[in-house]
Amino acid sequence: MAGGNKGRQNHCMFCGRSESEVPLLLSGIDGYICSDCVHLAADYLRDFEKNTSAANAEADAKKWSLQKPKKIKEFLDQYVIGQDRAKKLLAVAVYNHYKRVNHNLIAKEDDGIELEKSNILMVGPTGTGKTLLARTIAKMLDVPFTIVDATVLTEAGYVGEDVESILTRLLQEADFDLQKAERGIVFIDEIDKVARKSDNPSITRDVSGEGVQQALLKLLEGNVVNVPPKGGRKHPEQEFIHVNTQNILFICGGAFEGIERKIAQRLNTQVIGFGAIEKQKIDKENLLKYVTAQDLRGYGLIPEILGRLPIVTYLDHLDRDALKRILTEPKNAILKQYEKIFEMDGQKLIIEPEVLDFIVDTSIKNGLGARGLRSICEQIMDDAMYEAPSSKKKTFTVTLDYAKEKMENA
Ligand code: ADP
Repeated sequence: MAGGNKGRQNHCMFCGRSESEVPLLLSGIDGYICSDCVHLAADYLRDFEKNTSAANAEADAKKWSLQKPKKIKEFLDQYVIGQDRAKKLLAVAVYNHYKRVNHNLIAKEDDGIELEKSNILMVGPTGTGKTLLARTIAKMLDVPFTIVDATVLTEAGYVGEDVESILTRLLQEADFDLQKAERGIVFIDEIDKVARKSDNPSITRDVSGEGVQQALLKLLEGNVVNVPPKGGRKHPEQEFIHVNTQNILFICGGAFEGIERKIAQRLNTQVIGFGAIEKQKIDKENLLKYVTAQDLRGYGLIPEILGRLPIVTYLDHLDRDALKRILTEPKNAILKQYEKIFEMDGQKLIIEPEVLDFIVDTSIKNGLGARGLRSICEQIMDDAMYEAPSSKKKTFTVTLDYAKEKMENA
């Protein structure tokens, strides 16, 4: 590598010194550079990269600060039907969260005010849009996003995944860009399934429930966590990535089946108390909307976890009308997707209005709600999509009879 021509002295093309004046001279295709200049260039590059990433962070911060709660809600409206209350709360929470992140990023001096992190808990039946809401927010903000199922997590040392694996996934989503991952969003689904089985805290250790909640606490609080880059179990000899969870937004979701009973009990006792909701004004059909941390505690979430999930919101049960709207209204609604597929083959797809009612009713009948809509559509459209590309027809009409026939033969 070093220019070792004895008769003629080679010179560094950057500083001009000869090889006898420098520690090491490296040769290129038609020139030389000394080791001192390499070091200098490396320092310069490091500074340059640091400055540009700081500038990027500031630019990101500005971008986020532009997303006011109303704008966030408008964005969510394009993808998620109904759930107005949850959308508003989420919009405010996300706005405040990133305001807080920006404050930390660009605050030039410490003003003594620490904005506390506000993770979110969404309570609502399965298939009502909890995951969709979290995913849509991440899409809007263009931040890394990952979903984990709380049921696969276990306390360290037991069979299952350590909670740190959540951060491994987030890092993977961020292509191992630590800075990006540290501002991502994590959706922890089925948090209700790690509720403590008994309300009695003195019960012997509950591996699947309380232990996982304790382990999760470390993440939710905002700590530097040692994360195995490849996920899986932690090995002592493995190198860890140190992930700071301070600015990661955690959104938890759960169905909390049967929690209405606890809410009803509490409301009943409260009716007598001061500041109570008048009994006749209680919406008995939608008790979930009165859910509080107290009810969730009764369900088995430990107070420390609830303290780290200060924003609690609920999702409405989706009625017939909402399901129908889900089929057609969202920006990437299922039926719009089929129309697009046909359009790409030069055909216009017409779906008669009664077919929509049929799809919705079938999904309700099967007890699948919004989750069942896509598979029913697939069953109806399968054959049509097989035939359409070879057909010369300019339109394809799905009638009620056609839909019924396809469902019967499926
Ligand atoms: P959850 O997390 O509450 O169990 P998901 O968000 O995973 O439910 O919903 C499952 C699917 O149902 C989504 O991918 C979406 O297609 C549809 N869906 C559910 N709720 C809504 C909604 N409110 N608006 C639009 N689509 C919805």
